[in-house]
Amino acid sequence: MKCIPMKKFLNRTKELILELIFPNRCICCDEILEYARHPWLCPACIEKVKPITGRVCDICGVPIIANDICADCRGKKIYFKKAYCAFEYKNEVRKAIHNIKFNDNPRYLDYFAPVLYNYARERGFDGADIVTFVPMRPKNKRKRGYNQSELLAKRLSRLGMGEFKPLLKKVRDTKNQHDIEREERRKNLKDAFAPIDPADIKDRKILLVDDIYTTGSTVNECAKTLVKAGAQCVEVVCIAIVNKRD
Ligand SMILES: [Zn+2]
Ligand SMILES: [Zn+2]
Repeated sequence: MKCIPMKKFLNRTKELILELIFPNRCICCDEILEYARHPWLCPACIEKVKPITGRVCDICGVPIIANDICADCRGKKIYFKKAYCAFEYKNEVRKAIHNIKFNDNPRYLDYFAPVLYNYARERGFDGADIVTFVPMRPKNKRKRGYNQSELLAKRLSRLGMGEFKPLLKKVRDTKNQHDIEREERRKNLKDAFAPIDPADIKDRKILLVDDIYTTGSTVNECAKTLVKAGAQCVEVVCIAIVNKRD
């Protein structure tokens, strides 16, 4: 019994030394985080990084004021049942996702995964057979060193959302969806994805993971590929959604 406080003291000392050498930084603004505060966010960013509350579109999950389905989803052929997007893609959340994708900080996904898990559960997610992700071309993945959507899918699987399995491959290059006009986006993605093994997809309930929901074209094209390969249903989870009204 006597040695427990000493062990605790030594562990804490070790932690403090590590914090001095490798201080935790705020995932959004890079400010050094002091001991005993939030492990991921500085006090200013904690106030701003809040999941979406209130009414959202039944399909894409964007905040809406009236109706059940947003103007963007209406009249579109959508192959997934529902998307859970915990944040709006702006300000601090946008900076954190930028840090994950372009500043070699994929471990920041450890912050987002449990938040997404809780958000999806609160909004009606009741489990999937398989958790999969939007794939990258192998050369692009090599360049970045990782696919953030794949790493997020692994984390969500570990939290209990379903078994992790890569189901899709990207079979041709596409232009960056941000850089092209809306009409061109659909064509840009047509047949860009293919099943790795249709036997893994058939009759399965699938949760598809991506980082940002911009127009939904990418996840919709992936969902289409999964549904055509026999998936029972596809739901989507993204860290954040672009709110076109902004
Ligand atoms: Zn901050
Ligand atoms: Zn919508």
